[in-house]
Amino acid sequence: MRDLSGRPDLCSVNTATLGFREPLSSLIDAVARAGFGGLSPWRREVEGQDIKAIARQLRDAQLVVPGYCRSTYFPAAGRPHFLSNVDDNKRAISDAAVLGAESFVLVVGSIVPPHTDLAQARGMVREGIGLLLDHARQQGVKLALEPLHPVYACDRSCITTVREALDLCHALDPGNDVLGVLLDVYHIWWDPALAASIAAARGRITGFHVNDWLLPTRDVLNDRGMMGDGVIDIRSIRSMAEDAGFDGLVEVEIFSTETWWKRPVAEILDVIKQRLAHAA
Ligand code: ZN
Repeated sequence: MRDLSGRPDLCSVNTATLGFREPLSSLIDAVARAGFGGLSPWRREVEGQDIKAIARQLRDAQLVVPGYCRSTYFPAAGRPHFLSNVDDNKRAISDAAVLGAESFVLVVGSIVPPHTDLAQARGMVREGIGLLLDHARQQGVKLALEPLHPVYACDRSCITTVREALDLCHALDPGNDVLGVLLDVYHIWWDPALAASIAAARGRITGFHVNDWLLPTRDVLNDRGMMGDGVIDIRSIRSMAEDAGFDGLVEVEIFSTETWWKRPVAEILDVIKQRLAHAA
């Protein structure tokens, strides 16, 4: 397993970690200055901006963009809305290509109230991803399918395990040239089949997110922990991923409205570097 001490260049910062308080251009400077190897931005920071200029700044700062976050949910109450969600994602994939992003992150959505048919939601997700594959290939952007913790099965993602995501990859992209799985320790650490599923994902792991599960967790969305402050054995999961061939940047993604998002950006980046060395 790679040693991350003193190697922020092997790591990437997802801008969600920094709380969306400063313009992307200053975050790019701060993350590059701190010595990180990559930065993954969100659409809210990019859309409506001069994307070519952002791409230029990232290139000049020698920052890799492992993933562009993230898809519009696929499931919808009706067919026109579903197709418009797919189109929305195609536009975002084109933006990801302009940014030079290696992948576009798929968080797929789930049932849309008042509907309660989870199987139908899964069907729309499968069809929706299928409709993106050719466009992603043409744009040279991989699709990084991120299974989420089952606590979000009702709204954010009807795909909840690595195995389920992998099955979808095999079914939709048997040639393995565009669709992969993004492993986020927050979402997958609890899974009794994790070791076997990650081993089976060899050649398909398109991203690796680290953070921690706090005990107690006050808010499952916005109270994620810094690596080392919670209950996830991050190193053993990273070891599984690297044994399965993952050699990309280790990306820190922490949504933390009440703790980390109240700290200065420079301080967050400092703590991240220490924790990557000792707890990830
Ligand atoms: Zn993630």
